[in-house]
Amino acid sequence: MTRLRHRLQSLIRRDGPLSLSAYMTLCLHDQEDGYYASRPGLGRDFITAPEISQVFGELIGLWLAHEWQEMGRPSPFALVEAGPGRATLMQDILRAGASVPGFTEASQLFLIEASPPLRRIQADRLETARPHFIDDIASLPVHMPVLFVANEWLDCLPANQFFRSGQHWHERLIGLDAAGTLRFGLSEQPVPGDFAHLEKHECLEVQPGLETLTARLAACFSETPGRALFIDYGPDHGPADDSLRAYQNGRQIDPLQAPGLSDLTVDVDFSRLTRLAHGHGLSVAGPCPQGQFLQKLGIEKRLERLIQASPQHAETIFSAVQKLVDPEVMGTRFKAICLSSAGLPDATAF
Ligand code: SAH
Repeated sequence: MTRLRHRLQSLIRRDGPLSLSAYMTLCLHDQEDGYYASRPGLGRDFITAPEISQVFGELIGLWLAHEWQEMGRPSPFALVEAGPGRATLMQDILRAGASVPGFTEASQLFLIEASPPLRRIQADRLETARPHFIDDIASLPVHMPVLFVANEWLDCLPANQFFRSGQHWHERLIGLDAAGTLRFGLSEQPVPGDFAHLEKHECLEVQPGLETLTARLAACFSETPGRALFIDYGPDHGPADDSLRAYQNGRQIDPLQAPGLSDLTVDVDFSRLTRLAHGHGLSVAGPCPQGQFLQKLGIEKRLERLIQASPQHAETIFSAVQKLVDPEVMGTRFKAICLSSAGLPDATAF
């Protein structure tokens, strides 16, 4: 029995079943026993694009430097990353960005990171860029223009789920069975509201954090120009129904099986993100499949150059890059979307 499972049981016995978003928040971020706070398994439980190939971060670094030029080369500007993980993406961004004169000198680095052990890795690996850590996007700097990037961060934002029963919708909750084991169930009371427009759905998943994110980005970008690039996975159209997944040691497991010991993730609803962003007056480019985005950024040329520089590693380099663009691997399930303050030139590569 893990400590977190024990505490979840006590909490549910005392206060009743938990919403899925409360469960995800505790499992991921509990300061003592949460997955990211205590044992982030990046590279062990799951692997991300920047950890697969350096080309990913280099192309994004060149994109950021290009957008900085299009914004009129502001100096200083805030280079912000949310959820930097092992800092691999930012190291590659900074190395590639340094080839554009003035970019590095003008940048001030801000990192939004919830996990203390990951903050330590990031502080260490990005030491020369002297990062400022901030707790959430409410603390984004507003006294200088912002270029924001986040890979596989939106999918960590907790979700709530709702299931239809006849005309009514009920929230999915996490409670205990007679033996004290964590179990999914539904709220007794239906969720109040008119859901006639959802007649084609049986289950609905909503990340409340997308609303907070777009509202805060819009508030920040109303004071200073800004552009935010998100790369993550999600369906082509509409919300996922039940996309909650847990990963441990590279295997998918039951999301209630190992609270705090497994990564929990959901698909991102890009159509809702787009609607929310428009509602807050932001302009939106994409979503565009990752493969297509990286091809527009010149991934093939970059691959050729890398192989020329180390022909003895040609096969490894090629197969890593292939994973990023292959529609069967990451090329289409992952998407890039860019939210910008009104009045900026169109984002390139979409
Ligand atoms: N971007 C990295 C890591 C992705 S893993 C990569 O592509 O390799 C998700 C990252 O987001 C981790 O660093 C995790 O600690 C962080 N994270 C998750 N939820 C967060 C939140 N609510 N606030 C800040 N950081 C968060």
